[in-house]
Amino acid sequence: MHSQHPLPTPTHSNTRSRRRVVILGCTGSIGQSALKVAEDIPNRMEVVGLAADRSVDTFVSQVRHWKPKACTLFNPSAAAEARLQLGSKHPQVWEGEAGLCELATLPEADLVLIAIVGTSGLRPALAAIEAGKDIAIASKEILVMAGSVVMEAARRKGVRVLPVDSEHNAIFQCLEGRDPRSVSRIILTASGGPFRKLPADKLLNVTPAEALKHPTWDMGKKISIDSATLFNKGLEMIEARWLFDVPMPQVDVVIHPQSIIHSMVEFVDSSILAQLSATDMCFPIQYAVTWPERVPNRLPPLNFSELSKLEFEAPRAEDFPALNLARWAGTTGGTLPAVLNAANEVAVEAFLAGRCRFPSIWKTVETTMQAHQVDSAPDLVSILAADRWARTFTENNIAH
Ligand code: MG
Repeated sequence: MHSQHPLPTPTHSNTRSRRRVVILGCTGSIGQSALKVAEDIPNRMEVVGLAADRSVDTFVSQVRHWKPKACTLFNPSAAAEARLQLGSKHPQVWEGEAGLCELATLPEADLVLIAIVGTSGLRPALAAIEAGKDIAIASKEILVMAGSVVMEAARRKGVRVLPVDSEHNAIFQCLEGRDPRSVSRIILTASGGPFRKLPADKLLNVTPAEALKHPTWDMGKKISIDSATLFNKGLEMIEARWLFDVPMPQVDVVIHPQSIIHSMVEFVDSSILAQLSATDMCFPIQYAVTWPERVPNRLPPLNFSELSKLEFEAPRAEDFPALNLARWAGTTGGTLPAVLNAANEVAVEAFLAGRCRFPSIWKTVETTMQAHQVDSAPDLVSILAADRWARTFTENNIAH
């Protein structure tokens, strides 16, 4: 029942149920969806910190609107510009990795949403965990690179790692309250990307513009290319392995072009639970914020009469080698997933800059993985060293 009366004085449980959230990556597509969620469920989500890379104008208008307790722009000259625009009425704009870590450990925050593209969210994620904050992860690179380190730190500090990637959020929902030993398979769904039906010989001439057109999700550039190569799904396989502590052979992928089923869990009795919703990142973001509760929102419910069909097919593993490369990296473990991730980032940049063809992304990543000497029990320092090595090696070995 909606009431016109002012809210009663908050009780302990009321105050606790309003999550105070820091958003790292607020100007990106996940960050903007997170702000929509905050707009939609203001009684459950308060924005206390905002950080972005360098999009000054968007950042400044967000800070003016949301009035966070603290804010950071990663890029120092962008931060200087934002300070000029914001003046003294708003909190000091911090900068760099130190600024991200300050925000991640903000005393006023309960939950840190990490939605920074690439690997720069890793140190802030670990800083947040050390400060006892729950983290919601939208940047899959963090768990791909350093899954063992991050999950171990979270266990040690007793904090939650909440998945925001739609697939992992779906699996998280399906697994809720179930005995991990009853799980036989995690089944990640994949849209298949824009080239799902393209003959293998045509992949050679794919342009960045064609690869950036995603059929069902509206996303950033890097993740759109990853979705076209299926590296996105490969990274998600490794992410699932760490988040849910399942061995790699139990992580499977099925192509589901409509992206309505966000992922599934098969149990030992061969029953399968799936999570479905419209394709909008606000769903998983909201669940991460309100977990373990569910609250009403203004998001569109799924209309089954408008859904013509749900299709499923096996991925074309031969034509899209990313899944096998990821399985190799996830099974081997150690520093190899970080190397796959770094090599892929460099190869995607090369492709977007017109420096290599589309299938060269896979070839380049494979070459770097083959050249890598795996450290099988790495700490953060050796993971970051492997990441740097892979970037340099890949830069010098882009396939043509
Ligand atoms: Mg995903």
